[in-house]
Amino acid sequence: MVAGNWKMNTAQDEAKALAKYIVVNTQDIKNGEVVLSPPFVYLFAVSDAIKGSHIKLSAQNMYFEDKGAYTGEISPIMLKDAGCQYVIIGHSERRKYFNETDENINLKLKKALSTGLKPILCVGETLEEREKDITEFVVGIQIKKALYGIQDISNIVIAYEPVWAIGTGKNATPEEAEEVHFFIREMIRKKYGNTADKLLILYGGSVTVDNIGSLIEMKDIDGALVGGASLKGESFVGIIKKVAEKR
Ligand code: PEP
Repeated sequence: MVAGNWKMNTAQDEAKALAKYIVVNTQDIKNGEVVLSPPFVYLFAVSDAIKGSHIKLSAQNMYFEDKGAYTGEISPIMLKDAGCQYVIIGHSERRKYFNETDENINLKLKKALSTGLKPILCVGETLEEREKDITEFVVGIQIKKALYGIQDISNIVIAYEPVWAIGTGKNATPEEAEEVHFFIREMIRKKYGNTADKLLILYGGSVTVDNIGSLIEMKDIDGALVGGASLKGESFVGIIKKVAEKR
């Protein structure tokens, strides 16, 4: 899987043009999943632009209620209505700037699943946590709390995104990433058995067309969640092609 997180970028025309470029230039790629995650207000426009193609739509966040007096929030039902099949949950920017807690993330995951959306759960350590050598501890707690009370994880995707690598141009080495991906898969195996083998674990953090080739060689790296490089058609398509070649 390659998912593009457009964050708070693009204008409507750019969003439509980018989506169409990706549709046209990945038509021959049949293996794997390509997911686009535009800002909320462009979901319908992008949904229209990718209609009839193999590309899937994702939101960048959601609230954990269906409807009601929650000014400014977007419900999972609305996301489905807009054509989403996926939703990113717990992105580190939401944890950092919008006080997203593990408890909220757990509620959102449960609600997404019960609404029929596939969550892309983001986890990852800060630089300080990595330097203290507590990466696995931090990621382990994030996953444990996010999945609390969830019995079936077959529709969940996990994205390991070290915070120090997001938007910094400093990606984790393939070996550093693989170590954490392996840890995540084995942690999942302990609780969910062999479903762990089918779990997609994406790497995110300064992925480019130049570094994706060596990352995707790693046994437990099943794809990428891409921020900056997903905003340029050519680089995003390049990443998709390199992932498709290896899988
Ligand atoms: C992201 O926001 O999920 C991300 C990985 O961003 P970037 O690729 O720009 O580091």
